[in-house]
Amino acid sequence: MKVPLLDLKAQLDTIREDVKEVVNEVLESTRYIMGPKVTELEEQIATYCGARYGIGVSSGTDALLIALMALDLQPGDLILTTPYSFFATAGVVSRLNAIPVFVDIDPGTYNIDPGQIAQWFTDNPDKIERVKAIIPVHLYGQCADMDPILELAETYNIPVIEDAAQAIGARYPSKNGLKRAGSMGSMGCFSFFPSKNLGGIGDGGMVTTNDEQLAEKLVKLRNHGSHPKYYHALIGGNFRLDPIQAAVLLVKLKHLDAWHAGRQANAQYYDEHLRVAGIQKPLIAYGRAYHIYNQYILSVPERRDALVEYLHARDIGCEVYYPVPFHQQECFGYLGYQTGDFPHSEFAAEHTIALPIYPELTDMMQQYVIEKIQEFYR
Ligand SMILES: *Cc1c(COP(=O)(O)O)cnc(C)c1O
Repeated sequence: MKVPLLDLKAQLDTIREDVKEVVNEVLESTRYIMGPKVTELEEQIATYCGARYGIGVSSGTDALLIALMALDLQPGDLILTTPYSFFATAGVVSRLNAIPVFVDIDPGTYNIDPGQIAQWFTDNPDKIERVKAIIPVHLYGQCADMDPILELAETYNIPVIEDAAQAIGARYPSKNGLKRAGSMGSMGCFSFFPSKNLGGIGDGGMVTTNDEQLAEKLVKLRNHGSHPKYYHALIGGNFRLDPIQAAVLLVKLKHLDAWHAGRQANAQYYDEHLRVAGIQKPLIAYGRAYHIYNQYILSVPERRDALVEYLHARDIGCEVYYPVPFHQQECFGYLGYQTGDFPHSEFAAEHTIALPIYPELTDMMQQYVIEKIQEFYR
């Protein structure tokens, strides 16, 4: 038996003709930049996420980048975020000459710990003025604990940018009702990288917002700050979303909730059947149906790297997300952090693995994965 970490061919088999048709439609339209498909996707994603505006962009990374550009960062501004995420979350901060400031994660959910954010504010009263954004990441498909984060942000008047790249459709039971990822902060950033729950056939991304002024600014920044054409009040860039991607994503969006449900059912299967002493399964912070399981993460007590090798040798796809927290990355050495500064992130980096969780996975395949993990620890 062979169980890949992700099988996009299995997904394509269910939608191939529809995808080919819309790709051909864009091809024949000769409308290769922006156009009606992009506008339609923006409207549908905004509606899906419960946000007023959606601005299609070239990638999740560029979504984060122009969200920060829209805040007019100055060199030396501070951005509070997690040390444990995909590189882009912190990379974009440094690219704009701002300074990423890390606070540790909650070891149960792997999301930024609001208590640690509060502690940072208490410990650094002289720096609060320089903090220009907080970026919580909804890691693996489960929302960060947004109510206390938004409360702190409101207290200090700091915008919140949600990195929702892994969490399209994830929900959070806020004190103001059930909310979707990307509708709670000033801006939400999404990625359509092929391995996300909603993935294109190439790069793509989206920024969502409820703020009309921010939406207008993002639209300009996406296209060199141009408005009207050839008049530039702002310096933006080429961050446009391809219409081919938009067209394919519109086809896939119709299936997204069913795919989420497939992942949730697979997560439940692992939760119920995998038995290894000391193993930590994904914590369900709010409800299984609110988690979209972009990844199913195990924290194993020991010999993580040997387990990865053992599974790979048995044709089981698994991956370590992420082996090195930001504060231990060579490129962030200049920030001056030390090993030991963020123990929960360091622990997660050493002990976690992602298992296959994609919706087309069968019970037999999951049973095989479970058997091999249990066999390894026997
Ligand atoms: C995928 C991802 C990104 C970047 O998205 P791209 O589309 O690959 O640029 C940013 N943040 C997180 C948490 C991600 O998982």
